[in-house]
Amino acid sequence: MLVVQKYGGTSVGDLDRIENVANRVAKARDEGKDLVVVVSAMSGETNKLISYAEHFSKNPAKKEMDMLLSSGERVTAALLSIALQAKGYDAVAMTGRQAGIVTDDLHTYARIEKIDPTAMQKAIGEGKIVIVAGFQGVNKDGSVTTLGRGGSDLSAVALAGALHADQCEIYSDVDGIYTTDPRIEPKAKKLDTISYDEMLELSSLGAKVLQNRSVELAKKLGVKLYAKSSFTENEGTLITEESDNMEEVLVSGVVLDKNQARVTLRGVSDRPGIAAEIFTKLADENINVDMIIQNVGTDGKTNLGFTVPQSELENAKRVVESFDHDIEGADYDENVCKVSVVGVGMKSHSGVAAKAFNALAGNNINIQMISTSEIKVSMIIDEKYGELAIRTLHDAYELDK
Ligand code: ASP
Ligand code: MG
Repeated sequence: MLVVQKYGGTSVGDLDRIENVANRVAKARDEGKDLVVVVSAMSGETNKLISYAEHFSKNPAKKEMDMLLSSGERVTAALLSIALQAKGYDAVAMTGRQAGIVTDDLHTYARIEKIDPTAMQKAIGEGKIVIVAGFQGVNKDGSVTTLGRGGSDLSAVALAGALHADQCEIYSDVDGIYTTDPRIEPKAKKLDTISYDEMLELSSLGAKVLQNRSVELAKKLGVKLYAKSSFTENEGTLITEESDNMEEVLVSGVVLDKNQARVTLRGVSDRPGIAAEIFTKLADENINVDMIIQNVGTDGKTNLGFTVPQSELENAKRVVESFDHDIEGADYDENVCKVSVVGVGMKSHSGVAAKAFNALAGNNINIQMISTSEIKVSMIIDEKYGELAIRTLHDAYELDK
């Protein structure tokens, strides 16, 4: 059995923790597994390196940043390999390049283009534990590239795909994916299994556990992903293809996104093309519009509302103001949040959305905007009720059961 394991920054945060990881890897080896172990930089290390660069320049060249940042993961890979060798295990540390990872040229946010697993396979064939520095590859000219923040998860999934590994285990300080954030609802339960699509919808829950791009890639390549803790022996959560029995569960999780702002445009000229113009301009400014609602127009005017991440509100305002001849007025509200109910069971059950609306109504929480997809119902509400709404919904779908 070939397993790709990945250990995140906190799991390798100091020398004792690297020792702990070495013991865990050694144990898996003793169980007869072939192993490729991907590591992150020690926690805080990547940020520290960024701050070093910023000491000299506000805008350091991205190519040099990749040279700098890729070093964090190399340190951990080498140390883990040394720790394993000291325990009598045959291990070899590899950079992204040595592991055969080739990316495009987009420095600091590169995409993996291909992986040549020959060197890893050769080492595995020789009985070695392969340790790979995560978060990096090289472009076709041989320059080091990095894969974007949290990119070691992506390295692990991509390697698991290229090696046809039986599974990919992502270790962090959290022991899996929960029905909601346990800091908001202490009754939150760890899920045994969840589908890729649900995981992607719950991304704000899972962001600390799994990087989004890595889940997308796992789905594309069909890699069986486990989210586990390196500090416990708990089972973790399996993220995998959707199966029939998953649909028996109505809802898998509820999630709160506080980083939302609402824009309402009043008295918008009700003519063909106006929405296209506004949203094209927003897109050109790289503003991520999430929910959109438009009312049926009267007297040649209509109202249009949408949400953007809070950090993009100022930019959105500028865009909206450039349409002043087409819009009578605009309101902006940062004090909103989005609560979402996610579950593949919605595909085959009706009434899931109604249950959410009823639950919120029962607490006198007003819903300002609604959007739905096949597996998600999202609602924009007043920010001060966000946590109450999460607990209410968690109860309504009996997620603690
Ligand atoms: N060290 C990189 C980061 O902090 C990559 C990773 O940890 O996955 O973003
Ligand atoms: Mg991470």
